[in-house]
Amino acid sequence: MRTLTLFFFVTVISLTAFSQANERPKLVVGIMVDQMRQEYLYRYYDKYGEGGFKRLIDKGFVVMNGHYNYVPTYTAPGHASVYTGTTPAYHGIIGNDWYDKTIDKSVYCAGDDSQKTVGSTTEDKGKMSPHRMLTTTITDELKLATQKKSKVIGISAKDRGSILPAGHMADAAYWYDGKTGRLITSTFYMDKLPDWVEKFNARQLPDKYLSQTWNTLLPIDQYEESGSDNSPYEAKLGEHRSVFPYDLKELRKTNGNFELLTNTPFSNDFLTEFAKTAIDAEKLGADKWTDFLALSYSATDYAGHRVGPNAVELQDMYMRLDKNLADLFRKLDETVGDGNYLVFLSADHAVAEVPQYLIDSKTPAGNLRFSQLTAGLTDFLNSYFPDKQIIKTVSNDQVFLNHEAFSTDPRTGGVDMMIATELISNYLMQQDGIANVFSKGLLRQGDFNEGGIKGMAIRGHHPKRSGDMTVVLEPGWFYSSRIQGTTHGSPYTYDTHVPIVFYGKGVKAGSTVRYHTVTDIAPTLSMLLKIKLPNGCTGQPVAELFE
Ligand SMILES: [Zn+2]
Repeated sequence: MRTLTLFFFVTVISLTAFSQANERPKLVVGIMVDQMRQEYLYRYYDKYGEGGFKRLIDKGFVVMNGHYNYVPTYTAPGHASVYTGTTPAYHGIIGNDWYDKTIDKSVYCAGDDSQKTVGSTTEDKGKMSPHRMLTTTITDELKLATQKKSKVIGISAKDRGSILPAGHMADAAYWYDGKTGRLITSTFYMDKLPDWVEKFNARQLPDKYLSQTWNTLLPIDQYEESGSDNSPYEAKLGEHRSVFPYDLKELRKTNGNFELLTNTPFSNDFLTEFAKTAIDAEKLGADKWTDFLALSYSATDYAGHRVGPNAVELQDMYMRLDKNLADLFRKLDETVGDGNYLVFLSADHAVAEVPQYLIDSKTPAGNLRFSQLTAGLTDFLNSYFPDKQIIKTVSNDQVFLNHEAFSTDPRTGGVDMMIATELISNYLMQQDGIANVFSKGLLRQGDFNEGGIKGMAIRGHHPKRSGDMTVVLEPGWFYSSRIQGTTHGSPYTYDTHVPIVFYGKGVKAGSTVRYHTVTDIAPTLSMLLKIKLPNGCTGQPVAELFE
């Protein structure tokens, strides 16, 4: 009898252990916050409520020192890199737009002329698909692991913020059409919007949001984490000064009507409301097959470019986004259940200080006039190659040579091209604000794991798509002539250091200060989901999370 009891006991234990080993979250919610710096988790911490960012920080696993590991640090490569676990060298999304040598014109990362808009009459907004992304995403791998029984849905204000994370096999990707104020998709996913999306659009929420005034959540003197509201470093909205309150009803008249929504925190309210509706309508996390909701908030980037990281506007937007997250997690607790879902939060890049603010603060920074630079370079090359157009274009800090300008005889043409490359490099290196110039030959032969800025250029360089040379500016330098606003795209820490936080099923509370890259997010998810890695994955799981 005792033996039997023991046998029974052992069987139960091992069955329990087995079922735990094979347990997966019912739903993964990936949250990308466009242009979010890692430090925003802590700069605004005291102003956050309990249920949003603080819940992730205090109960989740925080990678304190997470970075992008390539240039350029833009939105499309950022979203693609997080979800594919690799860099532009493999996934091929080398910018938001880039010059396509094979067809001699600029292409958009998610542009696809073979598709049509579904959900509105705006023709160009829906000619989209992920076809330019060359490797699989973690969302694709989830589909492959479950005979496509897992549901995958992407949601963002930006098409690329929705399409790239959702991957090649997504059930749907939805994004905002600023011309009509509707959420739309493309024929790549479906021929008509589901009823629940039509009903959601019929509520005309953007119209309601844009009929109100944006004022600060708290009395404005409590925004001590930010600079003064009336700042010379913030670009205006239309003719309006960059100060609270923002009368949106008035401002929409001169700021593209529905387009204005993306510059306000209500864009994040809108997406959160839509995500909550999607959870119910699509029954996300309801059955035994793990689903994936890939959400990306874009308003933080639109506003961040305009006003910079010290603005009251930005702080207020993060405090409101905190409420959105709390609202979303409450919904997930109710429907999927706390402990049954897995969340990660990250960003597609961070952002630089406003250059003029640094200059005025006696810190090295500067503005390069792009047109002056290229005009000077063209004159310089003309003195060596009269009557020839040596440079085809400069796109995403990459110089594309005009290969037709060189003789097809490899003996002379090849030598001329080497000479031109060397001349361009020498000229650029003499200009203030340029830190380094890397030729294509150097980047193609480089080691993928090389350190420093050269390594970042190697990982950002796609052998077939990228230009003949990659130009890197000095820290704090930009191609601009503006005093207001800021941007991102560099290999420096102000652009690379982003939040990486995991929370929920399979994740214990904790943190690490060890260096990690955003390409570690997808392999970490693979381990938590017990599925294959994305096929081009070069990252490694965040091992500390499993120790
Ligand atoms: Zn941006």
